[in-house]
Amino acid sequence: MPKVQQTLKISALKLAAKKAYNNAYAPYSNFFVGAAALTKAGNIVSGCNVENASYGLTVCAERNCIAQAIINGEQEFQTLVIYTEQEKLTPPCGACRQVIAEFLEQSAVVTVVNHLEQQISWTVKQLLPDAFTPKDLV
Ligand SMILES: [Zn+2]
Repeated sequence: MPKVQQTLKISALKLAAKKAYNNAYAPYSNFFVGAAALTKAGNIVSGCNVENASYGLTVCAERNCIAQAIINGEQEFQTLVIYTEQEKLTPPCGACRQVIAEFLEQSAVVTVVNHLEQQISWTVKQLLPDAFTPKDLV
């Protein structure tokens, strides 16, 4: 993908993640998160965290984003952007890293951005080295 087009896609992903952030349901932690992924087909899907009074049922933005894509019939992704309004950039939790490793290639990039325009990126492999993936089941 040409660099300009790639930059536009990342900007669109940040906007989609921020929009999803605004819909997050996080009355217990007040830790609002939005995520947006670019599918291999070039579509943008998004998700937000959804908490529950039974805390263990809470689902993170990253996993809801990936589930949204699957609902729409897409299972392959180019990249994932996560948006928060935390001053400290926070990486995906362990559960999300496992789900990300299921659907994104090891070389795919995951980026966390915040409202201060700060960002940090990792490859999937950096987030979860030696991940257990479908390849381990053959
Ligand atoms: Zn998570």
